[in-house]
Amino acid sequence: MPTGALPRGPPGAKQSERETVKALTWQGKRSVSVEEVPDPVIQEPTDAVVRITSTAICGSDLHLYEVLGPYMHKGDIVGHEPMGVVEEVGSGVTNLRKGDRVVIPFNISCGHCFMCRQGLQSQCETTQVKEKGSGAALFGFSELYGSVPGGQAEYLRVPHADYGPIKVGSELPDERYLFLSDILPTAWQGWSTPMLNPEVSSRFSDSGRWASSLRGSEPTAATGSLASIPCRNGARWPPGMESKRSITPKASPTNCGK
Ligand SMILES: [Zn+2]
Ligand SMILES: [Zn+2]
Repeated sequence: MPTGALPRGPPGAKQSERETVKALTWQGKRSVSVEEVPDPVIQEPTDAVVRITSTAICGSDLHLYEVLGPYMHKGDIVGHEPMGVVEEVGSGVTNLRKGDRVVIPFNISCGHCFMCRQGLQSQCETTQVKEKGSGAALFGFSELYGSVPGGQAEYLRVPHADYGPIKVGSELPDERYLFLSDILPTAWQGWSTPMLNPEVSSRFSDSGRWASSLRGSEPTAATGSLASIPCRNGARWPPGMESKRSITPKASPTNCGK
């Protein structure tokens, strides 16, 4: 977390009321706890600070809980599947403004490097953690992915907010959007990537069914939503995959893995 943070306080509060916020922190192998941490602030012109309203716990967080422990540090803030409301934006962020409701993808990418332009944002050359041989930086996912403070917190600093966050509407509750941060696009990617063999692909499609059933809609409707939101936000699909956005809304769930 940034040091020297200026107090922001809860919504509507005077700035002097709070200098820290609550966040879930890693304390050691199989040990996490909610602690007071410095209130995040804008550090770069392309940053935003988001007040988190919902965040999911991922199966990948279990890696941090145990096997990736050697790459964690006491006090690291975990969480990479958040959504919330924009509280503040840097001078370089023109696509968001205070009050916007956003889902925040787990990987942090710039949107303008070679890899991002190919639709390979998970390998963003701007945020790659080269010293660890990793891809793009991730929220809340150990020093292997940049030691970026995560989203299981009251407030989150979002780097490259001029590109990453996805604006969503106000008409539905958080749980109808939250899985766009990781679970649903991850399942969609596996299901829709033609390089995968049918056996592996069918396993991913099961994930898609699971996620979309929790989301309360049939898989085809869910994938249709996935396709349209990134499309509105700019090019997000690798070349040649554009046709995968064409999902027939009348297909039954049994067609999902085919
Ligand atoms: Zn996840
Ligand atoms: Zn990039």
